[in-house]
Amino acid sequence: MAVSKKFSSRAIEDAYSGGCRHFGENYVQEFAEKHAELPQLAGAHFHLIGHLQSNKSRLAARLFQTVQTIDSPKLMKRLDAAGEEQGTRVEVMLEVKLAEEQSKTGCAPADVPQLIATATECSNVVLTGLMTIPPWSEDPEQSRPYFRQLAGLARQCGLKQLSMGMSNDLEAAIEEGATYIRVGTALFGQRQRPKPKTSAVSL
Ligand SMILES: *Cc1c(COP(=O)(O)O)cnc(C)c1O
Repeated sequence: MAVSKKFSSRAIEDAYSGGCRHFGENYVQEFAEKHAELPQLAGAHFHLIGHLQSNKSRLAARLFQTVQTIDSPKLMKRLDAAGEEQGTRVEVMLEVKLAEEQSKTGCAPADVPQLIATATECSNVVLTGLMTIPPWSEDPEQSRPYFRQLAGLARQCGLKQLSMGMSNDLEAAIEEGATYIRVGTALFGQRQRPKPKTSAVSL
């Protein structure tokens, strides 16, 4: 999957022309703006890979074919309700947090069975798999145990899709069974950092 966050709608079109059909975006609002600029791209599939705020559920259900970052029953039900309202079905994946990192979203592995049960009550979401973001490391081998753990969990739960691996650790992810790798930098180059604020008066 081509992760096009912080790149323009033009970059998405170019990647589409080059054969990409799966795209990952992190922010609902940012993608809404790009989506409005895009022509019809037949067969393109857009995945939300950033955290979903529940007040953006309706917009997300309209813009994305897959939301990979469901981590609570409440969020799944919100998305289900949004799908119901709009007559859309959204594919979802559960974001699982495998390491203790304060700043990260994602459910605990122990929460997965309950989320699977919730999905069976939701007729407008289709649960297909698991997603994870391991703690960042220079060394891709540091990610491997997390990938292996996610693959084991998915197998246990009978879920087929595994979204894991980014530019720096995608090979290890593929070796451990990834069905989606999420590649940004390696395809599009470095993302722009936020610009430092400039003063209103330039001298
Ligand atoms: C930005 C992002 C990626 C892509 O990361 P790269 O290192 O640029 O390949 C993948 N997954 C998630 C969840 C991201 O936020």
